[in-house]
Amino acid sequence: MVNFVGAGPGAADLITLRGHKLLSEADVIIYAGSLVNKELLKYAKEEAEIHNSAHMTLEEVIEVVKKAEKEGKSTVRLHTGDSSIYGAIREQIDILKSYGISYDVVPGVSSFCGAAASLKAEYTLPDVSQSVIITRMEGRTPVPERESIRSFAAHNATMVLFLSSGLTEELSRELIAGGYGEETPVAVVYKATWPDEKIFRCTVKTLPETMKKNNITKTALILVGNFLGDSYERSELYNPKFTHEFRKGTH
Ligand code: SAH
Repeated sequence: MVNFVGAGPGAADLITLRGHKLLSEADVIIYAGSLVNKELLKYAKEEAEIHNSAHMTLEEVIEVVKKAEKEGKSTVRLHTGDSSIYGAIREQIDILKSYGISYDVVPGVSSFCGAAASLKAEYTLPDVSQSVIITRMEGRTPVPERESIRSFAAHNATMVLFLSSGLTEELSRELIAGGYGEETPVAVVYKATWPDEKIFRCTVKTLPETMKKNNITKTALILVGNFLGDSYERSELYNPKFTHEFRKGTH
């Protein structure tokens, strides 16, 4: 049995109770060493066999799993944040399926949620944006052309950029070309929820120089939009005049 477990964004106590239980019982652990906090490995049992997938190919990962299965051992595949976001679990799942190996997925706190908590921010402010666009700049991994930053920028919605810290000159240009004002607020959250977390606030225009000045080239999220600004409407949910299933409004 293989469990894909979301490790959370960094802080070791942000794994779920279910993930923690599986991790502490696993015979074999394969963790994504480039981003998973090694402190989480303290939850493993002493005799657990531990592999760092940062040095492995998909085929090597599968070999470890197959061997564990043959020996009747349980495996935890520990992915950073939540495995549904740039987690590369689908390709693993399809191979496991082809071998008839059973598997399950345990969610984790994605870094985009960790970053919002660090900023104490809400992505979906009434009258500002009710949508969150999660995307990335094209790097060595291509992004389909119909998903260009420029086309998404036209919505002026909240935007969360993963995997894009090294490409902010072009990012800034595309965001502006697509329709965000140059002064639209941006927050860069480096290593959200880790002990060495850093937050930088700037604008769409000043993003590239902010990244450069602070030497941020990886493990950061770039958050864009007026949800970082000061104006918004209050919610209907808690409006005294608003009636809903659980509360009657005054008018
Ligand atoms: N599955 C992960 C994302 C993996 S892709 C998740 O749900 O968070 C790797 C990218 O995620 C990094 O390049 C960076 O953009 C972002 N990232 C991961 N952990 C982060 C953290 N603690 N703080 C800021 N960004 C993080």
